[in-house]
Amino acid sequence: MSAVVVIGAGPIGTCLVERICANAPQSGRGRVLDLHVVDPYPPGAGRSWRIGQPGVLRADSAAGSLTVFTDAATRPVRPGPSLAEWLGSEPEYSASRSEVGGYLAYAFERVVRGTPANVRVRVHRARAVGLVESAGAQRVELSTGGQLEADAVVLAQGHLDVPPSAAETVEAAFAERHGLTYLPSGRPADLDLEVVPAGEPVLIRGAGRAFVDLVTLLTVGRGGRFTEGRQGEPVYLPSGDEPLLYVGSRRGVPHHARPGYRLAGPLPDLPRFVTAATSAGELRQAVAKELAYAYYHELFSRHPARTRTTWETFEAAFTRAEWGDKAMRALVTKSVPGFADRLHLDRLEHPLHGMRFGDLAGLQRWMHGYLAADLERRADPSFSADLAMIHGLLSARAALAAGVATDLWLQRLSGLLAGGPSLARQAELRALARAGVVTFLGAEPRIEQDEAAGAWRATSPTVPGLTTARALIEARQPAPSVRRSTDPLIAGLFAWGECREVSGLLDVRLPDRRLVTRTGAVHDHRFALGPWTAGGIAGFDGPGGIAPLLRDADALARTVLAQVAGSWLHAAA
Ligand SMILES: Cc1cc2nc3c(=O)[nH]c(=O)nc-3n(C[C@H](O)[C@H](O)[C@H](O)COP(=O)(O)OP(=O)(O)OC[C@H]3O[C@@H](n4cnc5c(N)ncnc54)[C@H](O)[C@@H]3O)c2cc1C
Repeated sequence: MSAVVVIGAGPIGTCLVERICANAPQSGRGRVLDLHVVDPYPPGAGRSWRIGQPGVLRADSAAGSLTVFTDAATRPVRPGPSLAEWLGSEPEYSASRSEVGGYLAYAFERVVRGTPANVRVRVHRARAVGLVESAGAQRVELSTGGQLEADAVVLAQGHLDVPPSAAETVEAAFAERHGLTYLPSGRPADLDLEVVPAGEPVLIRGAGRAFVDLVTLLTVGRGGRFTEGRQGEPVYLPSGDEPLLYVGSRRGVPHHARPGYRLAGPLPDLPRFVTAATSAGELRQAVAKELAYAYYHELFSRHPARTRTTWETFEAAFTRAEWGDKAMRALVTKSVPGFADRLHLDRLEHPLHGMRFGDLAGLQRWMHGYLAADLERRADPSFSADLAMIHGLLSARAALAAGVATDLWLQRLSGLLAGGPSLARQAELRALARAGVVTFLGAEPRIEQDEAAGAWRATSPTVPGLTTARALIEARQPAPSVRRSTDPLIAGLFAWGECREVSGLLDVRLPDRRLVTRTGAVHDHRFALGPWTAGGIAGFDGPGGIAPLLRDADALARTVLAQVAGSWLHAAA
């Protein structure tokens, strides 16, 4: 027997299948490797990108940077179109999730069509519900009652479901008592938003990716539309069916928009200061220095007119100084005259820190300016140092050991700087804010139950007064938790001590991504890759973009092939 099972056929499962086929040895000495792909959803699109979800839901990444095919950076190259090339769209086009799903389905089919003669791909439209070891083989049990035997199993299950948290259960009970509307965290595309009343205030907790989806579904999804304003900017025309959305999040601001340009030239080798040995205690300092290094390298090399010394001189002093200390501050002030050209990481992270407004209207005026400034800067390649900083951040994440890479601060920083909406989406958010459909509540909001009033009330130190509402929506993906996952496969492995969690994520040994058991042993035949795994990757921005999916999938495919080579090739020898 020579077989590999890939569980999950979303973009990561698809890339793995593609890379296993690309790296398969030319000859299997007459033997065939069975590559089983298991997913209850159609392969390629999988669950997150399934075709037919509301067309108003869009990908964050521009169509030109979404691809599951390799370029010269990942060998062997098996070329294929990016989403933009497949659609025939502009690279900046913001495709719907459903369109992305169509592309991924096509990509999966193309991969299967191009399978080498010694690899056979078999798709099983089923859920994997169990994984056991039997007579030296891995046995995957399927929801259809079938079983698959394999030499290696790769989990590529994406984001898993968890039941509502204790806090969410308390909110749901409060809503039940008072006849209110409450939606716990989850995928916006899966929520029943019909229950959200039109024309009434609705509190939204969270301003990240799920927030953007929710806002879209509750505005354009309810018949509102955008027209073009005098400067070409979107202007929102309400339908009258949308609720009034009051948004509270820790920072009080949404994520930064994704830069709308590419870097003009290569970056230095990164990371410089973060290594796998960086401890949790050193993490913030090292990551901040890494970001700043990438940022200033780009500024000095591409925009030297805005600096007062050479990169070599700056780099030597920068390397000696500690991030944030007096010497570093003096170096930056002396070498970079423009205030807007200096990296103000604290301000980026907490733009509302210490700010107080007289009323909500004052805060909204500030927020409109904040969003306008973000749109302008993220569209402007003369601020390419911002994009270099994102590369620095991702290089640091890739280098860190599993436990540290899942640090909450780092995850949040990544969301804020690198996981935001496209420029087009951010412009629409600004239009919705200007139309008064979206109101920002300020930083560090408190959302409390008011039993007497039978409503929630929200307050924030940023602005006096309170906002009350009879509807509350948690705008976030549930925090990952292997321990609480409702996925039968993961629940079973966890219960038997055959996997363990680290910061809620599935623990794998890096760099080979073998599953780690409760005792810390490493399983030779089980692997995992994806957003729910330690040191995992979230997106699938491709070549020229910034997500390392193709590189990671390629490395894992080689490891898996090396693992099965014994039974596949040598058995036939
Ligand atoms: C709403 C949303 C929007 C996003 N937008 C972007 C974006 O614009 N750009 C970007 O780069 N990234 C984006 N991401 C990040 C996203 O995580 C990745 O793009 C990508 O979907 C991750 O790929 P995946 O294959 O790991 O997960 P998924 O796409 O979720 O696929 C995992 C698959 O595993 C299957 N599965 C799970 N458990 C089992 C089981 N027990 N048996 C069988 N099959 C199973 C599921 O059915 C699913 O099809 C977004 C994520 C979300 C949730």
